[in-house]
Amino acid sequence: VVLSTRRLDHLGPVDPFSGQVTVGAGATLEAVQRHAAASGFEVAVDLAARGSATIGGMVATNAGGTRVLRHGPMRAQVVGIEAVLGTGRIVSHLGGLLKDNTGYDLASLLCGSEGTLGVVTAVRLRLVGAAPFRTTALLGVADAAIAVDCLVAVRRGAPTLEAAELFFDDGLDLVVEHLGVTPPFASSRPRTYLLLEAAGAADPTDELLAALAAVGDRIDETAVATDAGRRAELWRYREAHTEAINAAGVPHKLDVTLPLGGLASFCDEVRDVVTGVAPTARAFLFGHAGDGNVHVNVIGPDVSDDVDRAVLELVARRGGSISAEHGIGTAKKAFLHLGRSDDELDTFRRIKAALDPAGILNPNALLPSS
Ligand SMILES: Cc1cc2nc3c(=O)[nH]c(=O)nc-3n(C[C@H](O)[C@H](O)[C@H](O)COP(=O)(O)OP(=O)(O)OC[C@H]3O[C@@H](n4cnc5c(N)ncnc54)[C@H](O)[C@@H]3O)c2cc1C
Repeated sequence: VVLSTRRLDHLGPVDPFSGQVTVGAGATLEAVQRHAAASGFEVAVDLAARGSATIGGMVATNAGGTRVLRHGPMRAQVVGIEAVLGTGRIVSHLGGLLKDNTGYDLASLLCGSEGTLGVVTAVRLRLVGAAPFRTTALLGVADAAIAVDCLVAVRRGAPTLEAAELFFDDGLDLVVEHLGVTPPFASSRPRTYLLLEAAGAADPTDELLAALAAVGDRIDETAVATDAGRRAELWRYREAHTEAINAAGVPHKLDVTLPLGGLASFCDEVRDVVTGVAPTARAFLFGHAGDGNVHVNVIGPDVSDDVDRAVLELVARRGGSISAEHGIGTAKKAFLHLGRSDDELDTFRRIKAALDPAGILNPNALLPSS
C-alpha cells in the first residue's frame, strides 16, 4: 500500500510568496526549523522536544510550546494536510490557500486527534518571519496575582511579547539544587517568578521595559538579558523544572488551562486541594502563564488518582480545561466528561465511527467507552 508519494522526512521548498512549506510527517521539528531558517523564516511553534518531536506527532497532539501566546498552537500553523484515514482513504489538501471556504476543515479536525482518525503523512505549514532580536526578562514578584498583572500590562504594551512563563520558589529550589547553579537573584528570594520574552526584527528591549514600567512598583527583582548565553541561563530556571521534579520523585502530572483572570487564585487554591487529599504531597506549579496553562506536578508517597480527580474537578469548576497540551490519551479518558458534554462526546464518537469504522487507529486513546 502506498501511503504517500513523499518520504516521511521530506522537506519541500519554502514558498517565498506564501511563507509556507510542505513537509513529511516524519520530519522532526528541528529539521524543519533549520530548513525554514535557511530561507529567513521560523516555525512558529517551538518546544524542548524539538530534536525528537515529529511534525506528524505535533499535529496529532496539537502541540503548544512556549510561543502560543503570540502565534497559537500547532493547529494555527497547519494550512493543509495529507492523511490516511481509518477507512483507507487518502485525503490530501496541501494547496495552503489562506482563503478556502470549501467545506469542512479536515486539517483542523486531525489536529489534536491523537492518531485516532487518521495517520498524517504530510503537512503544509505556515511559517513566520525570523525574529533575530530577542530580549528575556525574569521578574521576581510576591505572588501569582502580581505576576498576572505584569503579564497583562506587557501584553497590552509590548506586541513583540512571545512567551510568558510562570514558576514559584519551591520549584526553583529544586532546579537550583538539581542543576547545581546559583539562584537568579543574589540578595532576595521572591516567592513567584515571571519569565518574559519579546522578539522582533529590531531590539524589543525598550518596548518590553516601557510596558513593565506601568507595574514597576510591584516588581521586586528584574534580570534582563539580550545575549543568547545569558538568555539561555534565565530560560534554564524554567525549562529544567520537569527534569528537577522527576529527579525528586515520580510525579502525577496534570496539565491544565484556566481562564487567565482565575489563574492566580487557582494557583493558591490547588495546593490546599492537593494536601486535603494527600497530606504529605508536594505540588509544584509551573507553566505557560500567557496561555493560562499550569503544569501541576504532584509528588509524595500518598499521591493517588484521587489527587488527580480533585485537581481536575477544581479546574472544571473554575471553567478551565483538564488538558492544555498533553492531550487525553488513556490516562485522562475517565475525566473527559469534566470538560465535554454528552452531546459533544456523542459527536466525537460519530466522527470516529465515520473516519475509522473498524476502530483500528489508537483504539484505546481519547474516547471513553459510552
Ligand atoms: C522535553 C519535552 C518537552 C515538551 N514540551 C512540550 C510543550 O511545551 N508543549 C507541548 O504541547 N508538548 C510538549 N511536549 C510533548 C510533545 O508535544 C510531543 O512529545 C510531540 O509533539 C509529539 O511528537 P512525537 O513525534 O514524539 O509523537 P509521539 O509521541 O510518537 O506520538 C504522540 C501521539 O501522536 C500520534 N501520532 C504520532 N505521529 C502521528 C502521525 N504521523 N499521524 C497521526 N498520529 C500520529 C501517536 O499515535 C500518539 O498518540 C514535550 C515533550 C518533551 C519530551
